[in-house]
Amino acid sequence: MSTSTSSQRILVTGGAGFIGSAVARHLIADTDHQVLVLDKLTYAGNLDSLQPVANNPRYSFVRADILDASRMREVITSYRPDIIMHLAAESHVDRSIDGPGEFIQTNVVGTYTLLQAALGYWQTLSGLEKDAFRFHHISTDEVFGSLGAEGYFTESTAYDPRSPYSASKAASDHLVRAWHHTFGLPTVVSNCSNNYGPYHFPEKLIPLVILNALEGKPLPVYGDGSNVRDWLYVEDHARALALIALEGQVGEGYNVGGHNEKTNLEVVQAICAILDEITPDGRIGPRQNLITFVRDRPGHDQRYAIDPTKIGRELGWVPQDTFETGLAKTVRWYLDNRPWWERIRSGVYRGERLGQVA
Ligand code: NAD
Repeated sequence: MSTSTSSQRILVTGGAGFIGSAVARHLIADTDHQVLVLDKLTYAGNLDSLQPVANNPRYSFVRADILDASRMREVITSYRPDIIMHLAAESHVDRSIDGPGEFIQTNVVGTYTLLQAALGYWQTLSGLEKDAFRFHHISTDEVFGSLGAEGYFTESTAYDPRSPYSASKAASDHLVRAWHHTFGLPTVVSNCSNNYGPYHFPEKLIPLVILNALEGKPLPVYGDGSNVRDWLYVEDHARALALIALEGQVGEGYNVGGHNEKTNLEVVQAICAILDEITPDGRIGPRQNLITFVRDRPGHDQRYAIDPTKIGRELGWVPQDTFETGLAKTVRWYLDNRPWWERIRSGVYRGERLGQVA
């Protein structure tokens, strides 16, 4: 399947991260486009996640920091991207509580720095090349704040971010739109719900619970476990992002979500049930017994839910996985890919609790 007829040069920032690597793998495997991954390789960046495409001639990698303005100009001028897909960010809410400064630097100042480099390059273009250029900013539904029991986030929902992470993403969304309205840079923005799937860093709920449950360790659930998230399988998000970058309307926003609302407790219980079925362990017993309720995250938003009608109607995107099929594939992936996560668990991150206010 090719999402566009001519081969485009696509610069993917943050492409060694969870979603960025899924985008790079999708573009190389399923389209004819060329991909340059630009990544600083923070604790969250991992070249192992790009292993499946590493030897493809249409793929290349550059290690660089989006805060480095001259480097951004240099990379963009030499690669001459048709499209920039901007995913580089600090992405973990709990870490933004422990250390907001890095989120302001990377997500706000970094996005500004990249926008300036993209604008400078775009202004040198002319004709079709200039018209076709796109800057696609990848963002989160957390910018919209917290919902009660009813309602959905649409593209016109007012911003109401409440964590340092979501506030920094909201700021970056505003900058991207401002660079379109003020300077004419052809931008699109997308806001997506919680992703899960292969290659997910095990500080996030789903991979953390899979690995702790496998090892018979406590399964931490914040508060009473009633917070609701709208889960999307990462490969469905990657397909949506490629469509938005290639076919989205300049100046527009697209919400991406799969209508898979679950409470955190339901998510953890579903993982326990899958693991008990495919890899029962007599020493551990039923994994539900490992569930441990812990002090809630400060300012924990109650519910997020996306209305994805626009991207379905305008770009024809439909998710291929339900929560059940996606979760089963994800658990299986972690069982089959121990070296990928064992390296992380033994070094960079060992599963400790993050993001508590004293
Ligand atoms: P991630 O933390 O897994 O990956 C982020 C990547 O950015 C890493 O590879 C890291 O090395 C890189 N990076 C960080 N700082 C950098 C810098 N200064 N310069 C260059 N590279 C840098 O995050 P993710 O979950 O893949 O999220 C990607 C994007 O999608 C983020 O912008 C995030 O806000 C957004 N998003 C995430 C979710 C989700 O559920 N994970 C949902 C919606 C939107």
